Amino acid sequence: MTLKGLVLRERSYGENDKFLDILTDKAGLIEVSAKGVKKPNSKNASVSQCFCYAEYCLNDSGGRYSLNSAEPIRMFYDLSRDIERFALANYFAEMLLYIATQEAPNNEVMRLALNSLHFLSLGNREPLALKSIFELRLLSEIGLIPNLIGCCECLKYSAQQMQFDLKAGRLYCEDCFGSRDLHDVEVVDARLLHYIRYIALTDMKKLFNLIIQREYLVPLNNITERYAELQLDRRFSTLDFFKSVMIG
Ligand SMILES: [Zn+2]
Repeated sequence: MTLKGLVLRERSYGENDKFLDILTDKAGLIEVSAKGVKKPNSKNASVSQCFCYAEYCLNDSGGRYSLNSAEPIRMFYDLSRDIERFALANYFAEMLLYIATQEAPNNEVMRLALNSLHFLSLGNREPLALKSIFELRLLSEIGLIPNLIGCCECLKYSAQQMQFDLKAGRLYCEDCFGSRDLHDVEVVDARLLHYIRYIALTDMKKLFNLIIQREYLVPLNNITERYAELQLDRRFSTLDFFKSVMIG
């Protein structure tokens, strides 16, 4: 069988072989055995590395896949030259591995992953901007989109300040918030709310056109990161590593 896929993880076994976890267009996340690819003269050496996007020709014996050959489409090698960007790419990969185990093939998730790696490797976008976009959009694409229509009680669309309940995934205006527990709530001003709506709702074609003002990068990241953590009920070790190498 032939499918397009992005390698999210590689694990060595034996002297010359690897297991690859590949996010694919037709089969979702699959594990592929890649024999002999650690040999220096292997024709499949380059397509058996993390962050390679290629058309893979696989043998399928009852759901156990082995690599036959592959045609590279895009290699995101240059990511490994910058520790901060490489760390962020690994966080994206860990999140994708986590959600893809429960998901059928999802083209929008694949597009999000490829676009995020594309802009990350180009180096012309703030890593924190890409992180916020990836976190919130990924959750939105897998059915965990917050209700952003307006205040969930009175439907007011915008206000100077609104409260974003990260656990319930909904907004309250100041009139309706009352005396709720503030633990999982972030206050968002009109601009933050605009960014959140844009990331969750805009067409994928326009998603990466979003320009986030510098002073909003950290507050927006705080929200998207907590939202992802609360909704997935999981903390990713690659996120801690990214924070330890993050510049600025
Ligand atoms: Zn209200």
